[in-house]
Amino acid sequence: MILPKATRLTPEQLTEVTGVVTEFGCKIQQIVGAVRTIYAIVGDEREELMINRLEGLDYIDRIDRIQSPFKLMDKRSDLASHRITIGGVTLGEELFVIAGACTIDPKNPNYFYETAAAVKESGANALRGGVWKPRTNPYSFQGDVKSLDILMEASRRTGLPVDTEVMEEAHIALALDAGVHTLQIGARNALNYSLLRAVGKAIAERDTVVLLKRSIHMGPLSEFISAAEYIAAFGNPNVMLCPRGTTPTLDGYRNHPDESITPLLKEKTWAPVVVDPSHSVGKATYVPAAALAAVAYGADGLCIEAHVEPTKGIGDDPKQALTPEVLRKTIAQARQLWAIRKG
Ligand code: PEP
Ligand code: MN
Repeated sequence: MILPKATRLTPEQLTEVTGVVTEFGCKIQQIVGAVRTIYAIVGDEREELMINRLEGLDYIDRIDRIQSPFKLMDKRSDLASHRITIGGVTLGEELFVIAGACTIDPKNPNYFYETAAAVKESGANALRGGVWKPRTNPYSFQGDVKSLDILMEASRRTGLPVDTEVMEEAHIALALDAGVHTLQIGARNALNYSLLRAVGKAIAERDTVVLLKRSIHMGPLSEFISAAEYIAAFGNPNVMLCPRGTTPTLDGYRNHPDESITPLLKEKTWAPVVVDPSHSVGKATYVPAAALAAVAYGADGLCIEAHVEPTKGIGDDPKQALTPEVLRKTIAQARQLWAIRKG
């Protein structure tokens, strides 16, 4: 990482620096921030001669060499002061709650509009709604692009930013064109490196945010953070990490709850942690406790499935969606716990 003396390099300085790293087979990835720009050297930055040449330039303060497979997302990175803002709320300043249906039912849009109104009413910060769905059973409902219009209409009606899962490049383009604020990468695709790269490229020039679920298998934490690095490496580091339970399951829960990894993630990365208690425990009655546990462990946010009438929902909603009343209470208690934690 190149740290100039000024807040950014001039175009001439950038050309000179790019010339040096290119000689050593590296590239410069700029990450443009409001206050300053960060210049990451992509490639093998351990080349001693290259570092000496860069440090010899009078407008360079120093070269920071973090030996980490995720040097942008690493807590020691210069990006550690980067903040992610969605719909005017900055992660870390208040508990960020995303809530809404697992799956939007395109045949009954009113359920989603009513759910959206209830989500707004409950004090959540963003609305979730599944347009395209990864289903274990190939004959189950796979989602419908028509639901994208329903999602955006609900966003207009409530004023809430929206989150939806993308599973292929075509979904990314459609979601961004429609104005989706947060792209969700699901547990099944969390290690799909070509999709991670495609998302990184697509959001590079935007302020879009990614909610990256933890992969379903209990992999090492560095694997999870490295998946986020794949996205950030294209220039937009707005990635939130989302533990959502892993396999093998804990008898009785849908998955093995993993909100307890939050403090461990926070030791390694600056990325906000937004826990999904719904897929973790998989049953509405267990979700409030799992949500509170996540906040106690230090989560910056929650992603909770909710439905105005869960029994009428589709996808996961009949099993794990909270009713508006339980959602309101859970968010209120989670905010109280957040205040205790910060106090
Ligand atoms: C979802 O959020 O509805 C979903 C499918 O999540 P996951 O990828 O965590 O299973
Ligand atoms: Mn779901």
